[in-house]
Amino acid sequence: MDKRTYNKLYWERMPPEKKAEYHRTYYQRHKGERKSYSTEYYLQNREKILGYTKKWAGKPEVRIRAMAHKKKYRQNIRMRCIDHYSGGTMECACCPEKIYEFLTIDHINGGGTRHKKIHNAFLYGWLIKNNFPEGFRVLCMNCNFAIGMYGLCAHHDGSLLVKEKAIIGK
Ligand SMILES: [Zn+2]
Ligand SMILES: [Zn+2]
Repeated sequence: MDKRTYNKLYWERMPPEKKAEYHRTYYQRHKGERKSYSTEYYLQNREKILGYTKKWAGKPEVRIRAMAHKKKYRQNIRMRCIDHYSGGTMECACCPEKIYEFLTIDHINGGGTRHKKIHNAFLYGWLIKNNFPEGFRVLCMNCNFAIGMYGLCAHHDGSLLVKEKAIIGK
């Protein structure tokens, strides 16, 4: 076993309170020391470095790359959510709509203001982070809109009544 592997194993097996103790004494021992060259350099040239970073991030090729990456990430989490909440069918819970681009996540019973805040762009990430909580389903845009607007979708029995009421109610 080489020294690095040994050290790693030693560290992994160390009980947590001992680890905490180690960190404490390490901090005490090195507290007054001069900061490393790179830290020092950064602190003294912060503005300049941030300027470089900003300039680099503003380059068209970098921006396109970052945007593509973001898009891919968003599509990936969206796909995972649609897959989970449709039970793997990738289909609307109300009608046979299967076109992926038309599908969306619906919060059953409308949800409270708490959920409204995270709706839109953050919903998918939030669902994954919270281990796919219950109370959501997959709907197509049409059914989602109809249920949101009239409380019932035209695909269901009795929907005409809801529609009539909605029209009369105007
Ligand atoms: Zn539908
Ligand atoms: Zn429907």
